[in-house]
Amino acid sequence: MGQKILVVEDNELNLKLFCDLLRAHAYGVEPVRDGREAVATARSFVPDLIVMDIQMPHISGLELIEQIKADADLQAIPIMAVTAYAAKGDEERIRDAGAEGYVSKPISVLKFVAAVRSLLEAAAARAEAEPDEMPVQMEAEAEETESPEPETQEAAAPEGEAAPEETPGDEERGEESR
Ligand code: MN
Repeated sequence: MGQKILVVEDNELNLKLFCDLLRAHAYGVEPVRDGREAVATARSFVPDLIVMDIQMPHISGLELIEQIKADADLQAIPIMAVTAYAAKGDEERIRDAGAEGYVSKPISVLKFVAAVRSLLEAAAARAEAEPDEMPVQMEAEAEETESPEPETQEAAAPEGEAAPEETPGDEERGEESR
């Protein structure tokens, strides 16, 4: 419903297919044929989702994903990567670069649309659930609770395999009852 999708794809037939498909589902679509224009167009178009081809001349989709995820203004926009060469480890590399979703070519129309929808829903849920300060508070708390007496645990470790797991639990219980 009025959500905007940037489609970065150098292949004209695929670009038309993706754009037609998304328009048919009532998304607003902006096509980008040259990956070198993707970041600037993302800035001006402000999409809710980016569909990103991986194999492109001049700049690869992986590089673009890394650039976008390193950009404070753009990093919250979910990216769905689309690639024809799904060798082992491809999906992992794409996710490591920061893409939230992955679809292999030739695409299944149903899976493509379902993946777009679920990424948009997940992004909307994240935006509602997370005030900006929360991650900072959680990090500070985690540092405090993770620090109790590592020396004691290391000393207990060589005596038995079960010891390292039991020791922290006993300490916590002891502290609580004091
Ligand atoms: Mn391509």
